[in-house]
Amino acid sequence: MSDEVTYDDAGAAEVIRGKPTEDAPALTGDPGLGCHSGKEMEVAARMAGQSDLLERYARDYPQGPHDKPQSMCPAFGSLRVGLRMKRVATVLSGSACCVYGLTFVSHFYGARRSVGYVPFNSETLVTGKLFEDIRDSVHELADPDRFDAIVVTNLCVPTASGVPLRLLPSEINGVRIVGIDVPGFGIPTHAEAKDVLAGAMLNYARKEIEAGPVAAPEGGKSDRATVSLLGEMFPADPMIIGQMLAPLGLAAGPVVPCREWRELYAALDCGAVAAIHPFYTAAIREFEAAGRPVVGSAPVGHDGTAAWLSAIGDAFGIAADKVAEAQNAFLPAIKGALGAKPVKGTITLSGYEGSELLVARLLIESGADVPYVGTACPKTPWSAADAEWLKARGVTVNFRASLEEDCAAMEGVKPDLAIGTTPVVQKAKELGIPGLYFTNLISARPLMGPAGAGSLAEVVNAAIANKDRMDHMKEFFEGVGEGDTAGVWEGDPNIREDFRALNQKKLDKAARAAKAQEMI
Ligand code: SF4
Repeated sequence: MSDEVTYDDAGAAEVIRGKPTEDAPALTGDPGLGCHSGKEMEVAARMAGQSDLLERYARDYPQGPHDKPQSMCPAFGSLRVGLRMKRVATVLSGSACCVYGLTFVSHFYGARRSVGYVPFNSETLVTGKLFEDIRDSVHELADPDRFDAIVVTNLCVPTASGVPLRLLPSEINGVRIVGIDVPGFGIPTHAEAKDVLAGAMLNYARKEIEAGPVAAPEGGKSDRATVSLLGEMFPADPMIIGQMLAPLGLAAGPVVPCREWRELYAALDCGAVAAIHPFYTAAIREFEAAGRPVVGSAPVGHDGTAAWLSAIGDAFGIAADKVAEAQNAFLPAIKGALGAKPVKGTITLSGYEGSELLVARLLIESGADVPYVGTACPKTPWSAADAEWLKARGVTVNFRASLEEDCAAMEGVKPDLAIGTTPVVQKAKELGIPGLYFTNLISARPLMGPAGAGSLAEVVNAAIANKDRMDHMKEFFEGVGEGDTAGVWEGDPNIREDFRALNQKKLDKAARAAKAQEMI
């Protein structure tokens, strides 16, 4: 008997093993290509006939100011959505290094399922054998007793090479096959990659509904009209939204991205869609194709909840007095909760979750001064009301914000607290400014309705109160690990200004050559 001590039974999870091939793949197509290879991959993809796909992505997920992901690999978003679904297998096709990183991160975040991988080398990539390998692997996996669907994802290199996932059978033995391309040069954030998969699944489910009867929801069909909720949120939020919808005679529908296939049918069967996270462009296209109206913003804070309930009332044609009744039932409690837990201080806020504007609204209603909100997500009609509300209160709202812009705002404002992504928070702490990670500490709290009001105060106030500690740490570590002193040194670093000047000259020359080439 093994006496190994383990935290859980993850080690006993079934691992899907591929068959070794004789000509074992060496590594990747071109190891020089990656997230940082600029436009090269995009040019290659266009040459491989992927222009239509890239143009659709450019419309759905407009780029700029940066043209490559500044956070984790975008494919992590769609991978996570697939891994969270019951009876859904996920298969990645991409460079080994990308797949290693993606599987590592997904297991770090608690995925309890194996990630399938179809490896390739330069030869299988260029001869089209990779596509055949993917098709074989999908056939092998398609067991209807185990899976409702298999999601196959082309990462950067197979997308750039035009590996045609659209030619995979749409169904094998009753198991649905969903092929998506999630390249870093077309999808700027991992948030938007969630939309790529959610949109592809909704598209598939919508066509199934059009073709004939589909499975009913596991818990039965609600006797009230439902509002489907777009965006991954804190588990209590859909319940709170459901409570606020009840006086209107409505119920909360499934949250998209869904947790199982049949939820997709129920989501499409709604009376309206609440785009709580506003970047789900492809998913919204499917809902609109199904004739469902979409309501932007979310029931956050006093003003947000009032406006959202009235927009829901409009979408369902509910009488104004009934909407007012629902507003009166919840707004005083929200006001009370906000007043009971005030937030005092200046806060800059940035993130890539898509809920940044909603969090800023809550903080401002709690009493905080929020001069800057940056979101890596793009501007869409579904966040317009939030942006307007914030701008009316003097907030600079920066859509598709780059890391550099977020850092510059934080350095310029010198807030009492910087809420942001890892590099922004790291920079803030280096400056002795308290920082909170958006993803771990802010997204892990309820935001909606009465439960959301005041839920941020505790963590935010505790962080602001840490200023003295941050100053002490800054003083203690002053000069350590910065610039030339970064790393472990036994003596003073050997700084060669002449080498630096020479290198700078080379860089300038390369930049001039690139500029001249651009003009041609
Ligand atoms: S798949 Fe992800 S990690 Fe790999 S090159 Fe593309 S963006 Fe980078």
